Amino acid sequence: MTIDFKQEATALYDEMVTRRRDFHRHPELGFQETRTASIVAHTLDTLGLEVQRGLAQTGVVGVLEGANPGPTVLLRFDMDALPIQEENDVPYASQNPGVMHACGHDGHTAMGLALAKIMSKYQGEMNGRFKFLFQPAEEGLGGAFAMIAAGALENPRPDVAFAMHLWNASPYGKVRVVEGPCMAASSVFTITVQGQGGHGAAPHQAVDPILAAAHIVAALQSIVSRNINPQDSVVVSIGQISACTTFNVIPDRAFLKGTVRSYNETLHRQIYRRILEMATNMATAFSCEAHMETIAIVAPVVNSVKPTAAVRSAAANVLGEENILQHRTMASEDMGYILEEIPGCYFFIGSANEELGLTSPHHHARFDFDERAMINGVAIMAEAAAHYLLK
Ligand SMILES: [Zn+2]
Ligand SMILES: [Zn+2]
Repeated sequence: MTIDFKQEATALYDEMVTRRRDFHRHPELGFQETRTASIVAHTLDTLGLEVQRGLAQTGVVGVLEGANPGPTVLLRFDMDALPIQEENDVPYASQNPGVMHACGHDGHTAMGLALAKIMSKYQGEMNGRFKFLFQPAEEGLGGAFAMIAAGALENPRPDVAFAMHLWNASPYGKVRVVEGPCMAASSVFTITVQGQGGHGAAPHQAVDPILAAAHIVAALQSIVSRNINPQDSVVVSIGQISACTTFNVIPDRAFLKGTVRSYNETLHRQIYRRILEMATNMATAFSCEAHMETIAIVAPVVNSVKPTAAVRSAAANVLGEENILQHRTMASEDMGYILEEIPGCYFFIGSANEELGLTSPHHHARFDFDERAMINGVAIMAEAAAHYLLK
C-alpha cells in the first residue's frame, strides 16, 4: 500500500515541536530520565501499544501488534541529555541548571512518539509488529547495553532494527546513509605513570612521572601514522592529563586519559597492544612504571545491506536521490550493541541551518537544530519500516 509519510509527518509537525521543546526545557541525565520516560510510556499507552516501563531503570518499550502475522521491526530512540550549561537564549531553554539536550535526543524522543502515532493508524493493515524502544543513557553510559541485558531484544525478538540521529554536520534537507560501518568503535583508556615524587628544585633526587607522561603522549601519535594502514580510519586522542597540585612539586604519579576510535575491533585490539607497549617501554626509559586500563568499548555501528537499501530508497522518495550523502563519522553510538545482534540501519538526518544560525556542533552549549528536520526523519524511518510491515 502507498502512504505519503512525508504528509503524515508534516501533519504532526506542530505536535513534535511542542513535545521536543518540552523535553528540551526539562532535560535529564542518563538513567535519570524519569519525567521523559513517563511521558513516553503514557503516550504509547494512550496509542494502544503494549508498554513495558522501567527497563534498565528508565527505559520504555512499546509493542504495536499488527492484525496479521509477520516480522518484528525495532525502532530505537534515545532520551538522555548531557551535563552542559545551556547558552542558547530561546524560550524553550533548559530549566535544569547544568543539564542540556545538546545532542538532539529531545528531538529523537519527539520523533519516536510521532512515529508511534502514525503507525498506530495502520495497525489493521500491518503484517507483523513494531517494537518501539526508548533507551536511557546513550551518552557514554551504555544504555543500549543495559536495555539488552534487561531483555529488550527478546519476546518478541526483532528481525530488523532502525535508528537515526539528527545531525548538525549536514544541512537540513540532506540525509546520510552508508552501508557497512558508519560509526566507530570507541573506548576509553587511562595510563598511570608511577615515578617518585620530590622537590621541584631537586629533580635529580626524584623520578619525574610528568616527563615520562609527556613522552608517552608524543609517542602515541606515531601509532596512527606508523603502525596503521593508511587506508584504515583510526583516532588516538589524549583528552585529559593530570598529575600534581602545584608548580614546585614533582608528583609520585601522572595520569593520562584518552580515547581510541576505529571501525573494527581487531584494529582496536592492535592499537591497544601498541599503546601498552609504548606506555610501558617509554615509562621504563625514564625509570618509571606505566599501567594501563581500558574501559567501555562501544561496538562500531555497522549497517546491513537490506535495511540500508530500504532506508536509501525511503530517503530518495522523501528527499530525492541527490540529497543522500555517504559520509561516515568517527563519533560512536551504543546502537552498535543492538546492531551486533539484529541486522539494521542507523542513519543521519541533516539538521543544520546556516541562515537560521543553527550550526553549533553536537555537545556544544549553543547546540540547536532546524526542527523541520524531524519531519524528514519521521518520514524516512516510517517509509523504510513500512517496507517490512505494510506491503
Ligand atoms: Zn551525543
Ligand atoms: Zn546523540
